[in-house]
Amino acid sequence: MAAGFSPPLLEEIRSRVDMVELVGQFVNLKRAGENWKGLCPFHIEKTPSFTVHPKKGIFHCFGCGAGGDAFSFLMRQDRLAFPEAVRLLAQRAGVELPSERRPEAADGKLEALRQLMARATEFYTEALWGAGGDKARRYLEGRGVDPEVARRFGLGWAPEGWDHLLTFMRGHSVAEEALAQAGLVLPRQTGSGFYDRFRGRLLFPIRDGQGRVVAFGGRALGPEEPKYLNSPETPLYVKGQTLYALDLAKGAMRERNRAVVVEGYLDCLMAHQHGFTETVAALGTAFTPAQLALLQRHADEIVAVFDADAAGQKAAARLEELTGEAADIRSLGWSVARTGGFVRAGHYPVKVAVLPEGHDPDSLLRALGAEAFRSRLDAARSILSFVMAQALAEEDLASSRGRATAHARVALILSKVPGAEEATALARQAARELGVDATQLWIEAQQLGRARLAQGRGERAPGRAALPTVSAAGPPPSLAERDLLALLLGVAEARSALLPGIEEEDIAHPGLRRLLEALRGAPDSPAEALMAMLESDGERGLLASLLLEERQWPDLQQQISQLQRRYEIRRRKKRIRLVTQAIVEAQATGDPSLPQLETELGRLQREAQEVRELSLAPAAGQPAPGRPASAPGSMTP
Ligand SMILES: [Zn+2]
Repeated sequence: MAAGFSPPLLEEIRSRVDMVELVGQFVNLKRAGENWKGLCPFHIEKTPSFTVHPKKGIFHCFGCGAGGDAFSFLMRQDRLAFPEAVRLLAQRAGVELPSERRPEAADGKLEALRQLMARATEFYTEALWGAGGDKARRYLEGRGVDPEVARRFGLGWAPEGWDHLLTFMRGHSVAEEALAQAGLVLPRQTGSGFYDRFRGRLLFPIRDGQGRVVAFGGRALGPEEPKYLNSPETPLYVKGQTLYALDLAKGAMRERNRAVVVEGYLDCLMAHQHGFTETVAALGTAFTPAQLALLQRHADEIVAVFDADAAGQKAAARLEELTGEAADIRSLGWSVARTGGFVRAGHYPVKVAVLPEGHDPDSLLRALGAEAFRSRLDAARSILSFVMAQALAEEDLASSRGRATAHARVALILSKVPGAEEATALARQAARELGVDATQLWIEAQQLGRARLAQGRGERAPGRAALPTVSAAGPPPSLAERDLLALLLGVAEARSALLPGIEEEDIAHPGLRRLLEALRGAPDSPAEALMAMLESDGERGLLASLLLEERQWPDLQQQISQLQRRYEIRRRKKRIRLVTQAIVEAQATGDPSLPQLETELGRLQREAQEVRELSLAPAAGQPAPGRPASAPGSMTP
């Protein structure tokens, strides 16, 4: 894990990084006493259980068990390798790394790809603003795009021709294979060699949360097909996990506590140009739970903007997408109070804004201005109520058959509503129109929801707000073992007194055993520094959870000596057990070492008697107190 970086160096970086500031780039954190809390970026949740402890420089999620230090946070968040995370944080903290080691293997490859993408972006940007870019610039002007906005979004121009980028990159000694891997060139169909993927297109760089370009979207200026040509998936770019302009929008999202989601690049640009800087584009028609989770880190309210023509269909499809995996987790938050009422559990965050007939955001903004767009955003309604109203409108409620179908459809929709508050309102609304009892409708919906869950993930106790189990450290440890490790981690004195007497095999829980090993490897370093020695997220999460417990040790001395005694007794018992067994075997085989063993057993038992507790609780199969050394002999026939 430490991968060649010295522990003091890592400690130096760790101590200089402001955890709240670092995590705050991705998570909306609020102060809670000494800690900061927010919605966990690693699992979907409604109430914040993600905690940052700035003084210790660690984070921990009480929901999914994720935890660690600044390095592990970045590794998880941006899927970086450890050396990458170290380099990034070192840079951030102004710590110089001794020698920039040659990037190698997987992490080096990613970094090389990022550098290549940065270089390509430069090339395309220069092409747009340079002499050859007038055609693209005229196009932007015709679309009403402000040059300042075009620059803010880093737009570029891929010149017409087969190898402009290739030639430029060759001049920078970039290998063609690397360009192909970045999705920027394609192998020629005939013969060998490559050619540029983007030719004669306006380019929209797609950046990750850190503002690094990972892909391009290319728009044709004329009638060429396809109208949009995008980068393929690459090691840097996974579709469905990125949102266009998130890096530019996240600040405004947090400020306004709202995210606006449009479909196209130009829609997004125009929204920003008109002051809706909390806008992102979903990159394609899909809107994945991963994207939803990204947005929820920055804002509570998410408004999806739809054109009028297919709004109903799109909303229904999007709801379907959103209520896949994610909703299964969320709908677990549902439960009926004993009174039959609804238990409050947050609300479903996505709203739908429908644009006037014939408009997309771009055309609406240009034709009618910011106010028209704003009023549509303000009129946005919950995607659920929207879809439900559509379902009701499509059935003939005058006929009993139509009412029955509508009833079933509504129950199905309601079964996916995670927020009880919202479910209540929706159930009432639908029940009124259907002429049925709201509670009945709701209970039916809940049964449907449970059936779906049981189907999706095997049998599980219904109604329990179970959280996804990310905890990789196995089943939870026993309280006693937890207490011991917390003491060892928290109190240096306890460490020096107890570590020599405890063996790894005394600890049953594999994660805690690893902590003990790590602690033994570096007994003098601060407990937080152990993070770098742990291999798995599960172990780091466990460490973080122990470090976050603000424990007091009132009778420290007494506790330490009690524990010392406990582990000493344990050692003796084990030794007695071994010697007893050896005696039995020696008796069976006539081993001449029998008398020595019996002497040793006698000594062990006398010593053990000095430790009072042993006589109170002898190990099973051991001779009763008061019948020392001769006892094993009596077992022979
Ligand atoms: Zn979590």
